[in-house]
Amino acid sequence: MYAITVEPHKPGSARLEQIPEPDVRDGSVLVEAIAVGVCGTDVEIIGGKYGWAPPGRMRLVLGHESLGRVLDPGPCDSLKEGDLIVGMVRRPDPVPCPNCAVGEWDMCRNGQYTERGIKQIDGFMSDKWRIEPEYAMKVDRSLGLLGVLLEPTTVVTKAWEQVRAVGQRAFWEPRNVLVTGAGPIGLLAALVGTQHGLDVHVLDLAVSGVKPELVRALGATYHTGSATDIGFHPDVIVECTGVGQVISDCLHVASAGGIVCLTGVGSGGRTTGFTADVCATMVLQNNVVVGSVNANKRHWYKAAQVLAQADRTWLSRLITRRERPETFMQALRREPEDIKVVIQFAEA
Ligand SMILES: [Zn+2]
Repeated sequence: MYAITVEPHKPGSARLEQIPEPDVRDGSVLVEAIAVGVCGTDVEIIGGKYGWAPPGRMRLVLGHESLGRVLDPGPCDSLKEGDLIVGMVRRPDPVPCPNCAVGEWDMCRNGQYTERGIKQIDGFMSDKWRIEPEYAMKVDRSLGLLGVLLEPTTVVTKAWEQVRAVGQRAFWEPRNVLVTGAGPIGLLAALVGTQHGLDVHVLDLAVSGVKPELVRALGATYHTGSATDIGFHPDVIVECTGVGQVISDCLHVASAGGIVCLTGVGSGGRTTGFTADVCATMVLQNNVVVGSVNANKRHWYKAAQVLAQADRTWLSRLITRRERPETFMQALRREPEDIKVVIQFAEA
């Protein structure tokens, strides 16, 4: 079968190549790949900046935003041939740390977790893949190709859970949310915000095109420019750019008692956020900044509900480009109007 593989930490080493069919020891459920989404982590791995091959091997099968069709469920009763499933990405560390021991591998304390397509386990960019039934999340069949949005949605459902958990420290009735960055994570965060009944605002650099249209289609308000110019103090800010100046602006603009959740990592700019001035404001306003990464089974389950409830036409507009495995390098090249680019292996 064909797979897109890379030698981690070697730029320019990615290729489409033939590899052996997946071994039953990789999981009792055999799956035909439908599509795999591409994100910044894949671009970093291809660029030689991140990623680890499985122990004893040089190359890693890329891809962690999966969608596949069950070919053979094996002895698993809860899955049937033809079901659409998405594979969970992270596996608990083998020690395990206290959080992994209770199934919160997203909160791993020792960093020894593994991740499919990223860290020591092959990913999903292959014609077929296998998975352990307990790490397969079934998606609503009516979603079709849109099921490939499940993994990025889990990042958002985890982030929202963190925000709600922090909110419970005091009496808390949030009314509005600012999302910074209208990429896939930002737009999905805005979707969840509207599903929670909040007044949703999204800030991005784009002045026209699909991003403002998608925000307005949610009934949310679109802003460009600085977060400090939006004209109100958000109760919740979901920061999805990772840009130092944007983070700094978020810390300045949050409401008293406001919660800033950081989901983006280092796409440039020095973080000048924690000046004495900002720290004083955070103290006097009881602000919290919380970082959030990855997702556990609870967030995967919630994300499947979010997608099942979402408008299909709106979701379909998030997938702005589809490439074939043979043209995978084009999928990894960012174009101005791209939101989510997917590599499609088979029809949904
Ligand atoms: Zn752990």
